Amino acid sequence: MVENADRPDSSSAEVHILFNGYARDGDTPTISYVASTIGFIRDGNARVIIDPGMVPSTVSILESLAALGEVPTNITDVVFSHHHPDHTLNAALFPNARFHDYWAIYKGDTWESREAEGFHLSPSILLIATPGHTPQDITTLVGTHEGTVAFTHLWWFAEGPAEDPLADDLDALHANRIRVLQVASLIVPGHGAPFTPDETTPR
Ligand SMILES: [Zn+2]
Ligand SMILES: [Zn+2]
Repeated sequence: MVENADRPDSSSAEVHILFNGYARDGDTPTISYVASTIGFIRDGNARVIIDPGMVPSTVSILESLAALGEVPTNITDVVFSHHHPDHTLNAALFPNARFHDYWAIYKGDTWESREAEGFHLSPSILLIATPGHTPQDITTLVGTHEGTVAFTHLWWFAEGPAEDPLADDLDALHANRIRVLQVASLIVPGHGAPFTPDETTPR
């Protein structure tokens, strides 16, 4: 095993957060309020959205994109960290994009099978398989001038929860957290703001 094998080939990408997500209980047991943390990456000609999921209104996504000088038709690629609706619901905002998940690339009526593990979406954007929360979870590793950014649902927020209450496989989750911590200088979690990992970050 080569050390740092998970690093993207290049470090030319630029990373932005379109929306900082959250997850909290509502006033009754059947209601909760949930929004995805949504990322945007530029790398060469690639314009990539990570997890275009639930938000209070699509305006939240579109205004943030517009502030960066982009329109939805510019988006070349969308990555789903996994298949839950809170991370996928607004995918149709991006009509020209290829859609990436753990086992395929989708565009129009074309389903191209491929494993996410080791797939370079662009020179600075590498997908790896990180099951745990669900069997279909992937992490997007992005090379920037400041280091490697990991977009991942291995954490909901900076502080955890240490044991993901919805995890399919906690052993895999903990192993994959360690894998990602070996390379990431910044983590963009599923529902919180980006954070710099340190010794308090749940393993
Ligand atoms: Zn989920
Ligand atoms: Zn989630």
